[in-house]
Amino acid sequence: TEEKSLNFIEQIIEEDLTKGLSNAKLRFRFPPEPNGYLHIGHASSIALNFGLGISYDAPVNLRFDDTNPAKEEQEFVDAIKRDVQWLGYKWAEERYASDYFQQLYDWAVIFIKNGKAYVDSQTSEAMAEQKGTPSTEGTESPYRNRSIEENLDLFERMKKGEFPEGTHILRAKIDMKSTNMLMRDPIMYRILHKHHHRTGDDWCIYPMYDWAHGESDYIEQISHSFCTLEFLPHRELYDWFLDQIYDENKVRPKQREFARRNLSHTVVSKRKLLKLVQDNHVTGWDDPRMSTISGLRRRGYTPAALRNFAEVIGIAKRDNLIDVSRLEACIREDLNKTAPRVMAVLDPVKLIITNYPEEKEEWLDAENNQEDETAGFRKVPFSREIYIEREDFMEDAPAKFFRLSIDREVRLKNAYIIKGESVVKDADGNITEIHATYDTDSLSGSGTEASQRKVSGTLHWVSIAHAIPAEVRLYDRLFNEEAPDTHKEKDFLEFVNPDSLKVVTGYLEPSLKSAENEDKFQFQRLGYFTVDKDSTAEKPVFNKTVGLKDAWEE
Ligand code: ATP
Ligand code: MG
Ligand code: MG
Repeated sequence: TEEKSLNFIEQIIEEDLTKGLSNAKLRFRFPPEPNGYLHIGHASSIALNFGLGISYDAPVNLRFDDTNPAKEEQEFVDAIKRDVQWLGYKWAEERYASDYFQQLYDWAVIFIKNGKAYVDSQTSEAMAEQKGTPSTEGTESPYRNRSIEENLDLFERMKKGEFPEGTHILRAKIDMKSTNMLMRDPIMYRILHKHHHRTGDDWCIYPMYDWAHGESDYIEQISHSFCTLEFLPHRELYDWFLDQIYDENKVRPKQREFARRNLSHTVVSKRKLLKLVQDNHVTGWDDPRMSTISGLRRRGYTPAALRNFAEVIGIAKRDNLIDVSRLEACIREDLNKTAPRVMAVLDPVKLIITNYPEEKEEWLDAENNQEDETAGFRKVPFSREIYIEREDFMEDAPAKFFRLSIDREVRLKNAYIIKGESVVKDADGNITEIHATYDTDSLSGSGTEASQRKVSGTLHWVSIAHAIPAEVRLYDRLFNEEAPDTHKEKDFLEFVNPDSLKVVTGYLEPSLKSAENEDKFQFQRLGYFTVDKDSTAEKPVFNKTVGLKDAWEE
């Protein structure tokens, strides 16, 4: 087997194992905040953490970082679980930071008793003022040296709900002169009279992320806590909080950072994705244009393609922008191997084969997937009147036009060779009918000399009498800009592409009648398509996943 070089995260783990950490103590977690749906950036973090779990045969917890009741909902918890499972990963335990509220509170009381935390009762403006700037020292709060008794009393009353929001907070007593702003007496608790989706009204003080995260890792005995680079300056605080409670017989979690993954022509931030939903730029979190996992799923992406994408882009130490064409290449590669080929016409023009008998129909053999020997054959109906794509015919065609024209021959896929004879036009000069003749001896696969004749091209088609009309949704990029959310003066919403969705009526070969939600196909010569959840037997709906080639390569 091929030797894979270790990425820098794996190197950190290997080094810890060399230094004596036992493999049995390795434990990882994926810690989403349930304030939105997961996106393609999260898929990298999921693949990293669960991938390590698989490589080291170590448990990986799914931990909901649910410390902010204002933004979190059960709907998001359910969606996150569905997406992680769909990606093909299994968590060891489902955990919630809110399960640790009591433990965190008890530790906070110990902090107060040890002189490591105090209740501050100033306005947030006053505190912001005292915080200082990175180049100036902060000023200590006048409440910083409150007695332990007073702090204990106030903190307990904060918990009991005696005070309105914004009147008191609990702060860690660290160093107002630190060069790391996060160490200047950071907030541990704030009062929030809000209902929590799991703890209900049990609490009206809630721990801050920095306070809850490392301690949650410790409670779960996570050996390595991987997060994105913006948390690098938080590491000192993560360690300081652990220093106060750490028992040396236990595993001490280690925070390490990797680069956030950004994808071009979209946004990967739950807050911004929520904005797109709220402002109706899309139909919901799972709109097929969204960068969410559920949107990509509905668009026709497979778990294998998303896992492969995470693998090929790898993890990095520096932030960067990945071109969306690399994601598209992954789904194309997967569907090329697995998607059955079918015929569908999306911009139809009627073609009459004048020498084909009116009442006749034939059911011809069509190969399902030349990339997959086991895929077999199906029957497609052929008759005198068919649809072809409007762009596959040209009346006065240049020599290099390898499609149908007057007096030129093409093959109809799986069927006969036809020759263009004449056209019928409406009053405006638009072609309404093409008349052609077919060579009766030229049936594909019949082995006759006529069938082996070389013609300039092969077209897909459908028999009009047998075709199923369907709504086909054609997507373009949701943003015209490569990096819509990096502009200084303009809001990312200003770059929303107004033409990101085009809906057409397509005509599908009848074998697609039995297609079910999320089934995937290659519409020959057009691209990959999947059945949308809006689809019904009466009105099939298909989404275009991706074209056959990178549109920018052509
Ligand atoms: P968002 O800004 O979209 O809400 P977040 O980082 O706040 O992202 P969390 O739910 O806190 O979202 O993230 C869970 C985990 O996924 C964290 O460890 C986070 O670092 C990681 N993560 C989030 N976005 C990305 C990304 N674009 N690339 C890689 N990892 C990410
Ligand atoms: Mg977050
Ligand atoms: Mg965030």
